[in-house]
This record gives sequence, structure tokens and C-alpha cells, in this order.
Amino acid sequence: MAHTLYWLTHDLRLDDNPALLRAALGESLLLVYCVNPDWFVPGRLLSASMGAHRLQFLREALVGLSNSLNGIGQHLLILEERPQIALARLVRQNAIQRLVCSSQFGMDEKCELQALAKNLPDLEIEEVDTYTLFNRQAIDSINDGVLTTYSRFRRQAEKWEAMPVLPTPERLPPPPKAVIRKEKMPPNFLAEQAASEKLITGGERAAQEHLAQYFAGDLPLSYKAVRNELDGFNNSSKMSSWLNMGCLSIRRLRWTVEDYESKHGGNESTYWLFVELLWREYFLWLALHIESQLFSFHGAAAQPPMTKFQQEKFECWCKGDTPYPLVNACMRQLNRSGFLSNRGRQIAASCFVNELAQDWRYGAAFFEQQLVDYNVAVNWGNWQYIAGVGADPRGGRHFNLKKQTELYDANGEYRRRWARS
Ligand SMILES: Cc1cc2nc3c(=O)[nH]c(=O)nc-3n(C[C@H](O)[C@H](O)[C@H](O)COP(=O)(O)OP(=O)(O)OC[C@H]3O[C@@H](n4cnc5c(N)ncnc54)[C@H](O)[C@@H]3O)c2cc1C
Repeated sequence: MAHTLYWLTHDLRLDDNPALLRAALGESLLLVYCVNPDWFVPGRLLSASMGAHRLQFLREALVGLSNSLNGIGQHLLILEERPQIALARLVRQNAIQRLVCSSQFGMDEKCELQALAKNLPDLEIEEVDTYTLFNRQAIDSINDGVLTTYSRFRRQAEKWEAMPVLPTPERLPPPPKAVIRKEKMPPNFLAEQAASEKLITGGERAAQEHLAQYFAGDLPLSYKAVRNELDGFNNSSKMSSWLNMGCLSIRRLRWTVEDYESKHGGNESTYWLFVELLWREYFLWLALHIESQLFSFHGAAAQPPMTKFQQEKFECWCKGDTPYPLVNACMRQLNRSGFLSNRGRQIAASCFVNELAQDWRYGAAFFEQQLVDYNVAVNWGNWQYIAGVGADPRGGRHFNLKKQTELYDANGEYRRRWARS
């Protein structure tokens, strides 16, 4: 019976959490979340990894999870420290033999794990798939060629069954006695509030409520017809932030769609929701496959893009001060709310790469900072797609801004709504 540490990352939930269930097979269980100080420091692409909107969502998710854990005899230790330092200390101090965490898709988290494994060779490390529809065995069973395009992947993945959902644990092993009293929680982290025009609240309970609401009526039946609208809460599912912070299990969502189809009858729209979940799945597995190429200027392209970096243009785009009113509205919505529709993201990204001729990576890093629903594989993968350096047989996307304005904001309502910074 090992003393186990569960390092929580993008899996802030009790429902359908196979990593938590694995971690619970031990004598004692230490649950730890690390708020990495590096997230808040601007990197070489000028943006920080975490901005105020996602931070607020994260706080809400951690408070909710902490309360739920207290109800089943556990405690969540939240530390403002780099994981490899905090986890190594906790492992040593508490004679931890086993570390469990979710499979990691981001390079930073993977590096943290590698450093930990090197530093603590006797520690048993177990990574569990909690973030995807399918598990690694399914992906390992296909050849690499399947990941070269989305359509190939989709043809294959449509035949697979998603993993079943797992129950919420009713009780967990207790935390090691000394540790909770000894470790200092970050004093202000959970209490601070960011000013934001937020659409959604973080946490598992809010996710479950939203899931129930979205599937209570007819919204899924018209999803395909409205998903491209620029604005409007009900015009797309708005599941992404909860999915990506792990407050909602992707498998729970998938089975909810199936259940809805069996009760109400499926149509093209409910099927399309599944198709979009497969896009998320595709980008995640592709990111693991291509590793650091996800962040490289060339990406998968034979030729580098004909773009460069100009600070002034970059700053105007970030603020929503470009010569293009539709793009400005998109960027202001992103900055004020932390959310942007898929169409808005495509328009803003295409303008950055094509009209402004800027190095796509600076735009991707700014989205990373601003989006509540940021997902490393999906964000950088979509940016590569638009910049023409990703897994895209058509070689990039250029959205005609005049046409997009006529199609999606003919009466100017969206531009007026988000005109203010
Ligand atoms: C430049 C750019 C950057 C993006 N960055 C992110 C990101 O960091 N995180 C993120 O979750 N999505 C990202 N997307 C994809 C997409 O815009 C969002 O998933 C979607 O807008 C979220 O809103 P929703 O949950 O209402 O989506 P819905 O339309 O309801 O779709 C349901 C789910 O399908 C998945 N999905 C939908 N569209 C895509 C897509 N194009 N690629 C992959 N998965 C998709 C998401 O998980 C989403 O929650 C990006 C798209 C672009 C063009």
C-alpha cells in the first residue's frame, strides 16, 4: 500500500477522473496543485502564459474542487511554486512512493515530469489518460500516416468507441497527517478577483450545470446552423473552458451527446458536435506526435512563411486598433471577456498572418495569454493551420475580411457591441 501523491493539472474534477481513482489505490493520498510563477512572466514571444481571465476561472475551479474534496475526507494543497521543486520536496518529506498525474500534452508539463523522474529515480510515476476521448493504446494502434491530416484521423476515430465514464469516488484515502499543517497555502491567490465581463464560471459544478442546461432543450439540434455566428452565448456549446481545465470530462460530454441522440433523435447538428470534439482530439494527439514542431515558425511546411515580427503592428492587433473594424471587435471581445467564437478566432488570426503579415507565433502566444479555454495543442495547432504551416493539405487560410463582415456582421451589431476597449 503505497503513499501516493496526485499532481493535479488539467483534471480539476471528481467525475470521471481515472487518474484520481488510480491515485486512490494507496494508504495515504496527497493532492497537490501547483500555480507555477512562470505562467505570469512574459516569454520571448512577449505574452505571458496565463492572463487574468483564465486565472479567475482557475481560482473558481480550485475553490470548488477544494470544497468537494473536503466533503470526502480529503484536502487540496495549492502551492505557488514550480512543480518540479514543490513535488520533489513533498515526495521526500512524506516518503511518497508513487506519483500519479494525467497524461500531459504540453511541453512544459512534460519537462517538469522528466526533471522530477531524473531527480527522484525511485519514484514510481504513472500517467493516466483523463483529457481525451480515446486512450493511448488506440492511438498507438494506428500508423503515423493517419495523423498527417484531420480527415484521415476522423475516418479512423469515428469507428472507435469513447472510453466509458467512471464514477465519482465516495471516499478517498486520507492525506499524510503532517503535511497540510506544515505547508503554507498562497495567502491571496484564492481570494483575489479579476474584473472581467466573464461568460462562464470555473469549476466542476458550473460545468455540470451548463452541461445539463445545454442538453435540456433544442440547442444541440441547431448547433451546426449557428456555430459560426460571431456572438451569442447559445450559438455554440461553450464547453471548451471546462473541458480544457478538466472541470468537465470529454468522455462525459461525448456520452451526453449519445444519450441526447437516443432520446431526441440525432441529426446533422448533434453529429457535428461530435465532429468538433474529434478536432480537439486530433490536435491533442498530433501535438504529442510532432512535439516541439508545434511551436516552430516553419512547422510542417517546406518553406518558412513570408511573415516577420513588427512590434507596433503586433501591439495594434492585440489592442484591437488595426485598420479592420471587424478584427478590432474580435480582439476587444477577447480582451474584455477571455472568449472569442471560432469564427472570430479564425478572422483575427488570419488578419494577423495575412493582412498584417506577422509571425504567427506571436499571435498564438497572445491568444494563449488571453483565452480562458486555452489548450496548448488546440490553440497552436489551429494557428499553424491558418498560417499554412500545420497539418493542412490546403496550405493556410486567408479569410476575406469584407466578405466575412457581410456574412457575419452585416448590420454592424457585433462591431458596435465590442467597439470599446
Ligand atoms: C486561432 C484559433 C485558436 C484556437 N484556440 C483554442 C484553444 O486554445 N482552446 C480551444 O479549446 N479551442 C481553440 N480553438 C478552437 C475553437 O475556436 C474553440 O474550441 C471554440 O470556439 C470553443 O467554443 P465552444 O466550446 O462553444 O465550441 P463548440 O463549437 O461548441 O465546439 C465544441 C467543442 O469542440 C471543440 N472544438 C470546436 N472547434 C474546434 C477547433 N477548431 N479545433 C479543435 N477543437 C474544436 C472544442 O473542444 C469545443 O468546446 C481555436 C481556434 C482558432 C481558429
